[in-house]
Amino acid sequence: MMKFALAGNPNSGKTTLFNGLTGATAHVGNWPGVTVDKREGLYKKCAEPISIVDLPGIYSLSPYTPEEVIARNFVLEENPDCVINIVDATNLERNLYLTTQLMEIDVPMVIALNMIDVVDKSGDRINEKELEQRLGLPVIRVSALKGEGLQELMERAYQASKQKRNGVTVLEDSALKHLISDITIALDGQNVQNPLFHAIKLIEQDELEVEMHKETVKMVEAFKKTFTDELFGNDFEALIADGRYKYITNNFSVVMQHKNPDRFRLTKSDRIDKALTHRIWGIPIFLGILFFIFHLTFSEDLFFLGSIFGLPELPEAWYTPEGDPINFWVLLLSCFYNGGVFSPGCIINNLWNEIIVGIPFGALQGLVEESGMQSWAIGLINNGIIDGLCGVLSFLPWILTLFCLFSILEDSGYMARVAFILDRLFRKFGLSGRAFMPMIMGFGCSVPAMINTRTLADDKERTATVRVIPFFSCGAKLPILTAIAGGIVAAYGVGNADIITYSMYVLGIVTAVISVLAMRSTTLKGETPPFIMELPAYHPPRFKSLILLLWDKAKHFIKKAFTIILASTIIIWVLTHFDFSWKLLEDDQINQSILAQLGMLFQPLFTPMGFGSQLGQFGWVFVVAAVTGLIAKENVIATFSTLAACLMAVSGLDFGNLAINAEDGIDAVRAMIQATGITVPALLSFIAFNMTTIPCFAAVATAKSELINKKTYNLTLLFWVVTSYIVGAVVYTVGSWWWTAFIWALVAALAVVVIKLYNLRRNS
Ligand code: GDP
Repeated sequence: MMKFALAGNPNSGKTTLFNGLTGATAHVGNWPGVTVDKREGLYKKCAEPISIVDLPGIYSLSPYTPEEVIARNFVLEENPDCVINIVDATNLERNLYLTTQLMEIDVPMVIALNMIDVVDKSGDRINEKELEQRLGLPVIRVSALKGEGLQELMERAYQASKQKRNGVTVLEDSALKHLISDITIALDGQNVQNPLFHAIKLIEQDELEVEMHKETVKMVEAFKKTFTDELFGNDFEALIADGRYKYITNNFSVVMQHKNPDRFRLTKSDRIDKALTHRIWGIPIFLGILFFIFHLTFSEDLFFLGSIFGLPELPEAWYTPEGDPINFWVLLLSCFYNGGVFSPGCIINNLWNEIIVGIPFGALQGLVEESGMQSWAIGLINNGIIDGLCGVLSFLPWILTLFCLFSILEDSGYMARVAFILDRLFRKFGLSGRAFMPMIMGFGCSVPAMINTRTLADDKERTATVRVIPFFSCGAKLPILTAIAGGIVAAYGVGNADIITYSMYVLGIVTAVISVLAMRSTTLKGETPPFIMELPAYHPPRFKSLILLLWDKAKHFIKKAFTIILASTIIIWVLTHFDFSWKLLEDDQINQSILAQLGMLFQPLFTPMGFGSQLGQFGWVFVVAAVTGLIAKENVIATFSTLAACLMAVSGLDFGNLAINAEDGIDAVRAMIQATGITVPALLSFIAFNMTTIPCFAAVATAKSELINKKTYNLTLLFWVVTSYIVGAVVYTVGSWWWTAFIWALVAALAVVVIKLYNLRRNS
């Protein structure tokens, strides 16, 4: 049966065209050995049935991504009878770049000039006859979406498939002409199929080709010696890419007549881009936007209005001596304002906690209290279950707000720009901008982020990326950050919650960058493949998809709260209320409990990070919390919430008139601070440790399946432990004694020198 291949850039309308041609006959499988979709179907309206294979969407035929390799090998090795190259007519120049490469293969080929309806509607005109002549290939106007031109496309493709075609190159005109034809002739002499294509790829020093034609490489090198370009020296890959673009601009783009010649003045999108992707300002602008997002989510002093205008706090007379609002209206008002206007994130969070969660669960706890149950049962339900659950649920609005803002950035097209800006920076650290997308996904959840690293072509780059993804603080770690930041502000009266959380996120990013740099210059050295990406036009985010996404997140979070976290809090409660002989303990005997004993055993290990032996008698709670976080990171705060009531019950502890409401994670942290005397630097170090240490079970399992082998996986676990230990220790020591910064700087400098020397020796 005849076989046609469909090739084109991502988003050129390939799927739409494929579906239009094959209809119900299509089926989806996988390309052998990779997870890239392979779609195949039948076209029945020609003289004979034709099997159509949809190749992965690609920008070029270089060997840098699995998609590119699949598409290229298919066309080169499976001998399709015809290649249908689908070209997005609204983006002619960029799409023709791939065309100029496909043309070089000795295969019949036609161009489907897609999205022609959009071009027509805009009033622009494309002279396809002219383009056909200049390309030397049939060009057919189609609109895949409207199903127009498909029949003609297939008929012309069918005709084309009946004739042999030899590859041609647009590089004929350039200075490379002789070099290319010499090598082509030489390859042809060796009976190599598709000599022109292979010759050009060999000149580009394409990895796959060099591997395949080891003998010929020497000859190519000899030919190349006679040739250097003024502009590109001997970077032949760049020289060839440049040759293609120049030819496209001079010879193909002229077939397009724009209704509005001013079009070449910068579009609005371009103008925005000029600022947002500026070489120097791009990154500060990104950090600024990131801060703005945190400010909108966590600040209790929106736009710093309270500090600037010295706005007053709510009068003391409106609160009871315990610090509770005297009536519902004060409660409501205090959700919006207190000495500063609250950010939207805080307002939603307050309303949720005080009213939606606070009132019913508070009432439920009251009922349990008066039910006449055994006191241990009351403790288990009220402190173990309700406080633990609510401690975690209390962060849901914050998580959703942060997600909503991140999704808006992503949907609007800005995140693609960030990948582009960061590519310039990342490259210096040995990663391509492509690695940025999985990292950004890591802010949501490490699991899909790690899976997404499959788009990275190089195994070493991929390993490095998987390792640092957990440092991009995920949604589940947010409760740790916000509860402790809130606790610090409440207990010590220092800092702002938004600034603390923001700094911690940035600390995570910085740790990731430093780790990548370290890995890529030691154990995971390798080339960084070039990164080509499309910058989508900016557009307003879609409301509906945003709501769906948030709903999905909320559902997932609540489900997790009522399953894993609920189970964990019950286990934690049980382990803190029984001793090793399974005797039920009173609340104030908590230090004899199983969990306390185990925690105390390991407590000294955490001393360098500030939450070990130096803490008072209840210091073990931090150790226990960090360990329960390995199951799910939300557990860290759930543990605090479960234990807060116990710690407060322990006689001898003076909580003053602190109105502690253990169902609120922030209050639970306040109780921990009060009970252990932990300092601000140690609290920050605790956050940093949790952010950079071994992630939750789910992420660890994903890492295990995504990393290439067992050894890499074991080293990854070790890497997380060591990194978190160092980061925690740095934060704690520098925060406690500023001059230790010099010692750390010295250690870092020494490490750099050792690595440099080692690399030098190895290279020589
Ligand atoms: P792929 O990534 O190449 O598979 O592209 P898709 O087939 O998913 O198409 C990308 C987008 O372009 C979709 O929203 C399609 O509906 C749209 N599209 C595809 N072909 C046409 C066309 O001929 N005209 C118009 N107006 N839109 C199209």
